[in-house]
Amino acid sequence: MTSPAARLSPVYTGLPLTVFEWMSGLARESGAINLGQGFPDAPPPAQLTQAVVRALHERSQHYPPMAGLPELRDAVAAFYAREQGLALSRDAVIVTSGATEAVAASILAVVSPGDEVLLFAPAYDAYAPMVRRAGGVPVFVPLAPPLWAYDEAQIRAAITPRTRALILNDPLNPAGTVASAADLAMLARLCIEHDLIAICDEVWEMVRFDGVPHRSLLAEPGMAERTVKIGSAGKIFGATGWKVGWMVAAPDTAAVLAKAHQFLTFTTPPMLQWAVAEGLADAALPPAILAEWATSRRALIDGLAAAGFAVAANAATWFACIDLAASGIALDDRTFSERLVREAGVASIPISALWEGDGGPTTIVRLCHCKPVAMIDDAVARLERFRDGV
Ligand code: GLN
Repeated sequence: MTSPAARLSPVYTGLPLTVFEWMSGLARESGAINLGQGFPDAPPPAQLTQAVVRALHERSQHYPPMAGLPELRDAVAAFYAREQGLALSRDAVIVTSGATEAVAASILAVVSPGDEVLLFAPAYDAYAPMVRRAGGVPVFVPLAPPLWAYDEAQIRAAITPRTRALILNDPLNPAGTVASAADLAMLARLCIEHDLIAICDEVWEMVRFDGVPHRSLLAEPGMAERTVKIGSAGKIFGATGWKVGWMVAAPDTAAVLAKAHQFLTFTTPPMLQWAVAEGLADAALPPAILAEWATSRRALIDGLAAAGFAVAANAATWFACIDLAASGIALDDRTFSERLVREAGVASIPISALWEGDGGPTTIVRLCHCKPVAMIDDAVARLERFRDGV
């Protein structure tokens, strides 16, 4: 008889552990420097942790409203008015337990069995399994390094009468590149022409180092009614363990998204919601955090370049990518990442883990830079020694 575990959902029985958990596990076991999974080493800003403590003492610890504290929903709307010129009402915002839950709730609310969903590869590894679990069919459109540009002809060729939605991650994890104004206009045109919903994972919207304000696909003409915009306090404030995120959509769409959310996590810890509402109201906070990340980013990029690694240009996220072949390393990315963490004590993310099927890049590795500069310098020295030894 087949074991009960083998008869669980084939979407999950066949899946490996996420590359982030795999690498962080190896790093924890061996005490390696973890430049794999993206998280800052430093705690979130003290004013936010103090706000959590205050809320723990002064506010209710019981279920907050399912769609989120009204104060946080208002704060998200005001934040997007200030940062991106968006005019949103409280009803457009649904608070979730992290952006990953927002992605799941959006997919569950949008995708019906048999629907095709366009994903751009490389893709964050949660998207395709969730589309499949919703009964949908992920259809991958490849982006080509080093620019990871959106190719209209390839996207058009992938659209069929069954295509229901696309998932856009902009700025793009793992590459850290940003869609151009022309890309956004083109994607909006295609969504409108083919009646598609755009699920936009914009968690990196505030982690931009080119000084250019983020522009959402939701802001394109005709897109406000067909876009779900996903954001993350974890990324804005460097508080990844808090798991506070949100979905933004036209109120009638948001009401349906909320129904998916109500049967996933239902609510998100109220003390964290209070603190995030306070943080979003402080316009000086995101630039101050970004300035710190910019320093460690420079340390990693300049350190790698000085050591002879080929670092790809990018504008956003906590990540820098190196090309192994162009850096004089004749290993594929998976072998490199696994050997690097075991032999040199540095965890990294092989990009091929975020690419389903063959034909994707196999020589690109992602490194996280929001770490103390001394740790980055140590990691670069270890990378250099490892490269010279293979
Ligand atoms: N977003 C994080 C990253 O790209 C990973 C989050 C996770 O591990 N689920 O590193």
